[in-house]
Amino acid sequence: MVAQPNQLNQPNLPNLPRIEPGANSINSTNHYLCIMQFSSTLLENAVTEFAKLPGIGKKTALRLVLHLLKQETADVTTFSEVIARMRSEIRFCQRCFNVADGDFCSICANSMRKQEVICVVESVRDVIAIESTQQFNGTYHVLGGVISPLDGIGPDQLNIESLVNRVRKENTEELIFALNPTIQGDTTIYYIQKKLQPLQVRVTTIARGIAFGGELEYADEMTLARSLQNRLPVESYVAGQ
Ligand SMILES: [Zn+2]
Repeated sequence: MVAQPNQLNQPNLPNLPRIEPGANSINSTNHYLCIMQFSSTLLENAVTEFAKLPGIGKKTALRLVLHLLKQETADVTTFSEVIARMRSEIRFCQRCFNVADGDFCSICANSMRKQEVICVVESVRDVIAIESTQQFNGTYHVLGGVISPLDGIGPDQLNIESLVNRVRKENTEELIFALNPTIQGDTTIYYIQKKLQPLQVRVTTIARGIAFGGELEYADEMTLARSLQNRLPVESYVAGQ
């Protein structure tokens, strides 16, 4: 019997770096991703496309693709058609820039909603978040972002002019700003409010303060200060429960 060279040389193997299971997990994951080998180009292409989605790494992408591979062909066809149709046919409401199936979104087209109240938000995600509370019965205006000179985003790149025109044309009663509490959000509110001043519309912002279930001692000074500024009479706080 001929001894394997490996067995013979084992005691003299060079000192390879030892990979500790937890300690080196990031490096070993990267190493694994680099050497992920596919026996099918079609599979590899699908994994590459899924891995382009936010929050999806290559391992998750592979899991999703293999899951689809187990499904009926008709189901996967429906899945891909729904995605393709969503991208090619979806439109933006001509009035509020929310997503819509036609010229106007279902909120603008709904006569039961208070059309004279506009909630100004940054993105469509915010519309969905506020709608999920089922506490708002007005309409929206999606700005498409906030003013951020450092990122090269000025007022002209946002749906601000259309908002001012809308308020002027529709005799809006109240404009509620529901922007993220950031310097950029505040700058945007300030800019729009200046533009609206001649129109005498009531302008408000959503309350900012301690999150429900949050702890006072861990709140930053700005949040705590705003909570004090925006304090509520206890009766209305209790009534809002
Ligand atoms: Zn709309």
